[in-house]
Amino acid sequence: MIDSHCHINDPAYINNPEKYIKEATSAGVNKLLVVGYDLKSSKDALEIASKFDNVYAAIGVHPSEVKKASDNDLKEIEKMLSNPKVIAVGEIGLDYHWDKDLIIRNMQREWFENQIELANKHHLPISIHCREANEDCLNILKKHKPICSGVMHCYSGSPEMVKDFIKIPVMLGIGGVVTFKNGIKLKEVVKIVPEDMYLLETDAPYLAPAPHRGELNHSKYLPLIAEEIAKLRGEPIDKVIETTDRNFAKLFKI
Ligand SMILES: [Zn+2]
Repeated sequence: MIDSHCHINDPAYINNPEKYIKEATSAGVNKLLVVGYDLKSSKDALEIASKFDNVYAAIGVHPSEVKKASDNDLKEIEKMLSNPKVIAVGEIGLDYHWDKDLIIRNMQREWFENQIELANKHHLPISIHCREANEDCLNILKKHKPICSGVMHCYSGSPEMVKDFIKIPVMLGIGGVVTFKNGIKLKEVVKIVPEDMYLLETDAPYLAPAPHRGELNHSKYLPLIAEEIAKLRGEPIDKVIETTDRNFAKLFKI
């Protein structure tokens, strides 16, 4: 089972990645993609990935961090893209939840577009963060096609929009929200997403699945997400795991 989006580079875990990875492996989670959100966390993601066989890095500037980022940060990130342990540019995208200011939102769109171009230049897929901005995100993806595809991490769009995103094409990352009682929209999404177009993820330390909701999330909880997906799709859990392992390998070419 593969966690396609976690943050071992977060202050909650960075001091003991070895313990984290061991606990994940014990739970059957044997591959991890650690995702950066600014220059420092991207460097940390790569450092962790370099030390462990089954750990990989995605690096980039998160939309909520663009205010603090500089052109030089992007240059530094670009230099790291040739490292074989970097398998994606991310997390990049739009977050209108926290930023209401139109100038900042413009800045977010510009950074998103520039980082898609960067991924294209280096033949890498992208990991997309999109919150309360699905329409704009879709429009940018149509105009600036990610040529090596990507994933809508923690997909929060409607079931109706699934077809638009998979047409780009980008896969959908399914996380802990699918286990929430009020995660009704995402449960519908999981029932209809084609089997070759979704991935498992935790987004640890955020969004712990039920019954751990509100606690610190960890990749070791990924089986709870896979179980819920299996129930919703009416498939054995082994099939969900096999399918999402295959999808991960196809998207990230490992
Ligand atoms: Zn994340």
